[in-house]
Formats: sequence, C-alpha cells, structure tokens
Amino acid sequence: MIPSNHRRHFLRSAALAGFVCIVPFGTFARAAEASKISVLIIDGQNNHDWKRMTPWHKAQFEACGLFTVDVSTTPPGDSGWEEWKPDFSKYQVVLSNYNGKQWPDPIKKSFVEFIQNGGGAVIIHAANNAFSGWAEYDKMIGLGWRGPDYGNRVTVADDGKVTIHKPKDGPGAGHGSQWEFIVTSRDADHPIMKGLPLKWKHGQDELYHGQRGPAEDMHILATAFADKAKGGTGEHEPMVWWIPFGKGKVVTNVMGHVGPKTDAIQCAGSNLITLRACEWVATGKVSLPVPAVFPTEEKTVILEK
Ligand code: ZN
Repeated sequence: MIPSNHRRHFLRSAALAGFVCIVPFGTFARAAEASKISVLIIDGQNNHDWKRMTPWHKAQFEACGLFTVDVSTTPPGDSGWEEWKPDFSKYQVVLSNYNGKQWPDPIKKSFVEFIQNGGGAVIIHAANNAFSGWAEYDKMIGLGWRGPDYGNRVTVADDGKVTIHKPKDGPGAGHGSQWEFIVTSRDADHPIMKGLPLKWKHGQDELYHGQRGPAEDMHILATAFADKAKGGTGEHEPMVWWIPFGKGKVVTNVMGHVGPKTDAIQCAGSNLITLRACEWVATGKVSLPVPAVFPTEEKTVILEK
C-alpha cells in the first residue's frame, strides 16, 4: 500500500499527468485555432477558373499557420440565390474570388455592414471586375474594371506623385499581353510591403490598366509600369492599394490571373501580398515574414502547387 502522503503525491502527479496529456490537448488545439484569423473565401462565379484558384488560396492560408478558412460558394447561375446566406459577421476577413452576378440586396447590405463594423476584405484580380453599379462596393475598391466614363482613373509618376484623372480622360479598364512585369513598392514602410524589395519581377500576368471608380481615400502600396510595347498605357498603374471603409479596411490586389498560359497566383510576391493583406485587415499588423526565396528585379519566383 502506498503511504497516504505518497498516495496524495501519486494521485496529484497522475492528475497532473492526465491534465497535461489528456484533458487539455483538445483545449489547446481549440485555443490555437481560436487565436487564428478567420477568413471566408467567396467564390462560385468568375470568368477565371475559381475552382482552381480557391483551393490554392485556402492551402496557402493554412500552410502559413495564421488562418482558418471557410469557403462559401454562390449558386452557379440565376437561380437558388435565396439559399445562399453567408454570415460575414462570423469572420474577420472576406477574400473575394468572385466575379459574377450581382448579389441579392440583403447580402450586399450585410457585406457593407460587415466592413463598416470593422471587418476586412481582400479583393483579388477579377473580383474587382464585379458589381458595376454597386456604389458602396465601388467606394471600397476605389477602382474597378469599368469603362472610361464610369469614374476617375489613377496614375503614378516615376517619383510617386499620384494623378487623379477625370472620367473620359484616358482609357477605361483593360490590359495588354501577359508578361513578367516589375512591381514597384510605393509605401515601403506599410506593414504589407515592409521588407519586400522596392522592385521585384512578378510572374507572367495581365497588367490591369485604366481602372475606374471614385478613387477616394486610396492608399497605393504598389504599382507596375504598363509598357506600351506590351499593349499597356505607358503609365505606372496601381496594382495594390487599400481603402478605409467605416471601421474596416479593404485591400485590392489586381494581380493573379489564372488561365491556360499562366497561374499568376503562384508568384511568391503576389501570394505574400495577399496573405499579408488578410493578416493586416484583420489585426492591423503583419507578422508573416518575407520568404528567403523571393523575386528580385531580375528573377521571378513561382511557387509549386
Ligand atoms: Zn485575368
């Protein structure tokens, strides 16, 4: 028989062992999950292969260990919309991989309220083509894929000076041929851009130009020079920017075309910007480091699937 004081010690040790080994395992796991940033990816309609894009982004979010991810897929066509009711308020960030039919008004309203109340949104590539005529969305994205008379246009000079062009002054939205273009940081101290080279070569992509919209409160983080030889405008065009909306923040990254010739979402540079943007709109900070292998001005870095 174990003497009583020893037995107490044994029991306490056993209890502690149990506490350490059994009880809290799930608790710690849950706590770790709870401390992660919750992201909701919206997809379901896009003129790009969203069925290939969403799993890529989801895997990137999960691999870096900072995020939990859910996906909400809209109906594929005109019917079934009354069944689609995403609860944005359960998340810290909405990543839009959606470019399709206008959402029902109650969903639009809840999205606007989500951002106004402090939620974050990150808009990637053709998601900025969506929702022409939705005034609040236009304000959130600042510039979208719209015609030349739809709204203002923004260009940036070599020295960083921003010019806002009136409607019809210059082209509307478009892009030239796909190429590996140089991305230039325009706010190197911003948490999303900190530590990135000032200039780096992006993987083969469409270089969006002539984007149009209200362009209010735009904080431009990166631009790319749209070479006329590639069918561009001969101007530095905004690539990444953020806009405050109510208590929330919206980051747009127009890079990331996916098609038969390229999967630009696999560029290590654009990918890091999207991940950091999601961290930043959720927390106001960025902890994700710049990977050791990162594009330079001479060389792209394309991540493996
Ligand atoms: Zn595209």
